[in-house]
Amino acid sequence: MSDTDDVADAGFDEWLDAAETGDAYYLECANGHGSLPPRRVCLDCGATDLEEVGLPERGEIETFTITHVPTPAFEEDAPYATAIANVGPVRITGQVVGIDPEGVETGLEVELEITVSETTGERVIGFRPA
Ligand SMILES: [Zn+2]
Repeated sequence: MSDTDDVADAGFDEWLDAAETGDAYYLECANGHGSLPPRRVCLDCGATDLEEVGLPERGEIETFTITHVPTPAFEEDAPYATAIANVGPVRITGQVVGIDPEGVETGLEVELEITVSETTGERVIGFRPA
C-alpha cells in the first residue's frame, strides 16, 4: 500500500485546493452514493465508475464531540469541537470553527471552510456556522 498512499495524499491535497477556492466536489457513483477523494471505489457498493459532482455549499452537523484535553499535537486548538456533517450525500469529518464549542449542536447548519490547524500548520476541513 505504500506507493498508493502517496497518490491518496496528493488526491486529498488537490481536493483541499479546490475546496479553498469554493470548488469543493465529491465523487458520486451511478447509484448516487457520495464520497470524498481520495477514492477510486464506492464504499457503499464497490462501483469504480465515479464522477466528480459539485458539493452543496451547506451541510448539517449530524454528531460531534468536544475535546477539552487534546493530544499534545492539538494543544493550541483546545477546546474544540470535531463534527461529522452531512453535506449532500457525503458525510464529512471536520473541526468546527467560528463558534464557541459549547454552542455546537446537532442539526446546526454549517458551511465548509478549509482552515489551518493552529498547532500543526496543516490544512484541515472546518465547519463554520452558516
Ligand atoms: Zn455506490
